[in-house]
Amino acid sequence: MCGCWLSSRDCLTEERLLHIGRWSAGVPAAGSGGAGGIPLPDTGRMTWTATVRRAAAEALAVVFAVECAGCDAPDVELCDACRDALGGPPTRRVLADGLGVRSAVTFDGVPARVLRALKEEGRTGIARPLGAVLRDTWPAGVDAVPVAVPSSRASLRRRGFVPVELIARRAGWRCLPLLALARSTDDQRLLSSAGREENVAGAMTVRGGAAACVGSRAVMLLDDVVTTGATLSEAHRALRSVGIPVAGALTVASTPRRFG
Ligand SMILES: [Zn+2]
Repeated sequence: MCGCWLSSRDCLTEERLLHIGRWSAGVPAAGSGGAGGIPLPDTGRMTWTATVRRAAAEALAVVFAVECAGCDAPDVELCDACRDALGGPPTRRVLADGLGVRSAVTFDGVPARVLRALKEEGRTGIARPLGAVLRDTWPAGVDAVPVAVPSSRASLRRRGFVPVELIARRAGWRCLPLLALARSTDDQRLLSSAGREENVAGAMTVRGGAAACVGSRAVMLLDDVVTTGATLSEAHRALRSVGIPVAGALTVASTPRRFG
């Protein structure tokens, strides 16, 4: 048992998959996997395991009714068409503080439904295809430590897990728990752009012990969805305040809405 929020069975399954360049001392060793020293799962074993997992999931779907998270097609967690809808070249935007954010998809249609299935309906199996999507946003040749933005305590209580941490784990990355919330925050979804900034301003702090693990490397921030960018900018501010460089940020989705 590693102490994470996953069931022991799920956690052990994941541990078996991530046997190359695994996070052991808090920071992945440079050159231990793909570009930037990011640990990648063993592709061959992953393919075989993924095939078995998919067959098992489809068999279970006969017993336990399941619908596609993207389109409600019967007897499949995520149909091929909806899986394809999660593909596409990443988009990039630059926040007001200069932080570059790469996002795999627009938070709309199928991607929005799939993310909501994970975040609001607790369908954690969806984290695996979302992890593959997030993994593809990592810019080639960039060496950085993946760090997830922290969830509010209210969100953690409501869901029982941190979506971006689970997605990152399914991407084959073990996030360094570098950031913490110094105070409670309100649900960002209910706030205006200005309200979101005010809500998270000064809310994050850097854990000193984890910061020592970063060394001279840069950090890559991870989140599931970027909307106004207020949360990522606050994470950026907290890291810069203690001299930790930030290479950029990656998200599964970017909302198309414009906030005034
Ligand atoms: Zn579908």
